[in-house]
Amino acid sequence: MKYEAPKSIDEALELLESEPDSCVFAGATDIIPQMRSGRPEPKLMIDLKCIPEMVQIACENKVWTIGAAVPAVLIAGDSALKSDFPGLAESAGLIGSDQIQNRASLGGNVCNASPAADTVPALIVNNAHAVIASKGGMRTLPVALIATGPGSTSLNAGEFIVAFRIEQPLPHSADAYLRFIPRTEMDIAVVGAAARITMDKAGNCTDAVIALGAVAPTAVRVTAAEDALRGNPIDEDTLTKIMAAARAACNPIDDKRGSKEYRTQVAGVLAKRVVIEAADRARK
Ligand SMILES: Cc1cc2nc3c(=O)[nH]c(=O)nc-3n(C[C@H](O)[C@H](O)[C@H](O)COP(=O)(O)OP(=O)(O)OC[C@H]3O[C@@H](n4cnc5c(N)ncnc54)[C@H](O)[C@@H]3O)c2cc1C
Repeated sequence: MKYEAPKSIDEALELLESEPDSCVFAGATDIIPQMRSGRPEPKLMIDLKCIPEMVQIACENKVWTIGAAVPAVLIAGDSALKSDFPGLAESAGLIGSDQIQNRASLGGNVCNASPAADTVPALIVNNAHAVIASKGGMRTLPVALIATGPGSTSLNAGEFIVAFRIEQPLPHSADAYLRFIPRTEMDIAVVGAAARITMDKAGNCTDAVIALGAVAPTAVRVTAAEDALRGNPIDEDTLTKIMAAARAACNPIDDKRGSKEYRTQVAGVLAKRVVIEAADRARK
């Protein structure tokens, strides 16, 4: 197996084209454990962490650009980014341990396409778009359309994600992310729940986006809960509807972390709690 660390996007694209049996990586916190568990080794591994635009965080013209290879620790710790997207920062700050967060990237979290990936629901509720490079040029795609099932993505051969773009939030709007794991840390989500809520001065919700992780083959939007929120106060009646809608959106697996019934039950509880948290932040 060969290792290359290109210094530019063009150089990485050339390398990808030169060897069909190649793959890009950033932190390698998914791909190395997978190879140790039997995933075939590619002939060429292309390290994306030496490409400057892929390890930068910037905000210009009210749009944040987060390099796809930026380590999670910098996303969780960037105070300006955290002030705009506390939920996204929370999701990055929950990945693994300090060691893992010093390597793990958003690009890897999204492209590994685990149903339980923590940052994916948080990226989806913030309408994050992936900037995708290929020899044909750049294209953008909503993060919600990247994973197509466990371990599979809609990216074509020869493509990789350079960065994620997210518009700055509107006033009185905020996000939040919560997950439930069987231990206190270092585990994969039984359920992850993200919400972005916009409130008006009268205390009604004017817009809402809710997404759940680990309850279906890919992260799911809970549009029925979003409809129940829009134009309404966040009272017991609305919260009851949110819980029911979240449970109805679930199509989970049974595994050692939780049965289908348990995950479905937890999804309702987390959806309710994450909406309350995001709404509290939006009111401030
Ligand atoms: C001990 C441990 C604990 C963990 N805990 C969590 C957790 O709590 N929550 C969680 O969500 N995950 C967790 N993970 C999984 C992993 O750390 C994350 O998914 C991480 O974000 C992956 O990022 P990476 O840069 O290391 O990915 P890599 O391993 O570098 O890549 C993963 C996959 O994505 C592809 N890829 C990487 N970057 C790009 C790109 N820019 N464009 C296209 N394809 C790309 C690679 O080819 C590979 O298939 C854990 C892993 C370990 C080992």
